[in-house]
Parts: sequence; structure tokens; C-alpha cells
Amino acid sequence: MQYAVTLIPGDGTGPEITEATRRVLEATGVQFDWHVQRAGLEVFEKYGTVLPDEVIESIKQTKVGLKGPITTPVGRGSRSANAALRKKLDLYANLRPAKTYQGLRSRYDHIDLIIVRENTEDLYSGIEFQRGTSAQEEMLETIARTTGSRLDANSAISIKYISVLATRRIVKFAFEYARTNGRRKVTAVHKANIMKFSDGLFLSVAQEVAKEYADIQFEDRIVDNMCMQLVQKPEIYDVLVLPNLYGDIISDLSAGLIGGLGVAPGANIGGQYAVFEPVHGSAPKYAGQNKVNPMAMMFSGVMMLRHLGEKDAAVRLEKALAQVIAEGKYVTYDLKPRPDDQTAVGTSRVADAVIEKLEKI
Ligand code: NAD
Repeated sequence: MQYAVTLIPGDGTGPEITEATRRVLEATGVQFDWHVQRAGLEVFEKYGTVLPDEVIESIKQTKVGLKGPITTPVGRGSRSANAALRKKLDLYANLRPAKTYQGLRSRYDHIDLIIVRENTEDLYSGIEFQRGTSAQEEMLETIARTTGSRLDANSAISIKYISVLATRRIVKFAFEYARTNGRRKVTAVHKANIMKFSDGLFLSVAQEVAKEYADIQFEDRIVDNMCMQLVQKPEIYDVLVLPNLYGDIISDLSAGLIGGLGVAPGANIGGQYAVFEPVHGSAPKYAGQNKVNPMAMMFSGVMMLRHLGEKDAAVRLEKALAQVIAEGKYVTYDLKPRPDDQTAVGTSRVADAVIEKLEKI
């Protein structure tokens, strides 16, 4: 069987790690029909957008995407292509596992966390009011009229939006994932003590959904406490479910627990489509240098193989990656004891090493 998959190299270091990942996926023996689609800064000039409609149309056709990172200019210009892609395809669940492998330089052993981040709303709704605009003035007036709080006119506003519908489906997703994958506990993370309505809603809906899953333990944590606990005793946590912003932050924290962004994979999953991508960004300062670690994207490829039902290939690729990490020879600078280690290899050599292992598994 041949799988049609939309391949989005992205920009910055994206094309290099995408090429390395494509090679190892093909070396598993699974057949792919890659639909290559360009997105990111390189197409902005031509199309006036970092996410042309063709990209969305292609994923609608293939149902599955494998994506490199895309740069989002800070504080100006277009919205994030990543956020737009998730929204347009209603990829409401962002699944980010954080797992230790022998040989990774981590302060911890035996971490096996699953972060389930809500992907479509919260402060990422993109609803913002810029300082000095009539919309912002109107919003300030509405706030003053409805709450009695008169905010500083010299300010900007971003809307934090959390709905029952989106919360219910993300918490259900976390419990279903826990059940299907033999996990024992789901922890809902929030700041409901301060944001009583938005995060309060997230918590109360999570508590309701938890009642439908008596076989899985449920608990909740306030997000600041969660950060401290993850650093102190990450091994006691299992599946975490979080609103968008906390999920983004906690998944980077969790990547730090297991050895860095170079090995942290992710998946964006909706009812109809799924797009697999590393947690990290485009690391533009290393673009074109054959330097960064392709393993986060390769592990995302492992998740994609599982999603496609190619369990055997997924297990083999994960094993091959684990072996290369454990040997520590053909790994990039970020997995070496020191970042300036002269024995660090480049992106493409990592792919060669993984393929050599795959051939023997
Ligand atoms: P980043 O993840 O690109 O890089 C931060 C640092 O982490 C890098 O400088 C590098 O030291 C390290 N790093 C990242 N990936 C690595 C890898 N594969 N191997 C080794 N080291 C790695 O984060 P940033 O600098 O905050 O973001 C750069 C751009 O990427 C921004 O425009 C941001 O918006 C975008 N971004 C995109 C995505 C996405 O496409 N899903 C995700 C996050 C950030």
C-alpha cells in the first residue's frame, strides 16, 4: 500500500530536517506518495501569504501532513501559519510526547509524559485590539461599561477565549488517548483560581468529562505549581491536558526535561486530518548549515506511521533512533556533552546512521 502524504518542508532549517526525515521514513519500506507543498517565508513574496490555499487543499485530499517548522515574524506582519493551519483544518488536539531515551543528556530517567494541548482557542484565537485603533477604543468603552474597569487607553488587548465545546473534545481526546494507550492518569492544568470564568470553565468541564472515564485516574493542577512539580518529580505524571498557551509552554518545558527540542515530536490531530511536526521552530540562525537535529521530526514521523496503522515500521524506526541516540556517535551538537563538541555530525549524517540501523532491525 502507498500512502499519500502532504510534505511541507517549511522554512529556516525545515527543508534540511524534512529531507532527512523523508529518507528515514522511506527506509522503513513503507511506500509514500509525497505531495510536496511550499509554505513559509519563501512563498510569502509570491503569494502574499505564508500559507497558500494549495497547502490546505492538499491536506484535505491526502488527510495526512508531515511538516517542517515555519517562521512567524514576532510582533508584526502575518499571523502564524502554524496557528492558521491548525485552525483551518480544525486540528484541535496537539499531542506532544516527552520521553527519555538512554543516552540523552537529561537530569531525569524514565520520563514518559504525554502533553495534550488544546489547539484552536485560548489566547491563540488571534482576536487582538491594537493600541491606538478605533476597535481598541470601542473595546475599552465596552469593558468600562460592562465591568466598571477603566483600562489605560495606552494599552493593547488580546482575547482569551475558552468554550465548552472545545474543552469537552480536548479532554475527551486525552482520556481516549489514555485508555487506548494503557495510561493510568489524566491531569488537567489550569489557572482557575485567577481566571475563574475561562480557566474555571476548562476545569469544570474536565471534571465532568472525567466522570465518564472511571477506569482512568483524574486530578488537576494549577499551572505554576505544575511547572514546579514537573521539574521536581516528573515521573509521577502521565497524560496532561491543557488549554493552548499553557500547553505550548509546558511542552517546551517537558522537552527540556528529556534532553531538548532536538528530540521532541508532535502531532496536530482533528476529526478528519492529522499533521505531524516537531515541537521546535525553524531555528533560522542555523538554516542551510546541515547542523540541527532532525530527530524531533523523525520521531514525529514515528507518530505518523502509527497513525497510518504502520505499527511495525513505527516500532522499527523508534528503535533505530533509540540506538543512534544510545551510541551517541552520529548525533548532532545538541546531543553531545558540549555544544562545541568537534565530533558532532550534521543533519544528513544522522539520517544515514538511522538508515544503517534500520537495515539491521
Ligand atoms: P526554535 O525552536 O526555532 O529555536 C530555539 C533554539 O532551540 C535554537 O536556536 C536552537 O538552539 C534550538 N533548536 C531548535 N530546534 C533544534 C533542532 N532541531 N536541533 C538542535 N537545536 C534546535 O525557536 P525560536 O527561535 O523561538 O523560533 C524560531 C521561529 O520558529 C519563530 O519564527 C517561531 O515563531 C517559529 N516556530 C515555529 C513553530 C512551528 O512551525 N510549529 C514552532 C515554534 C516556533
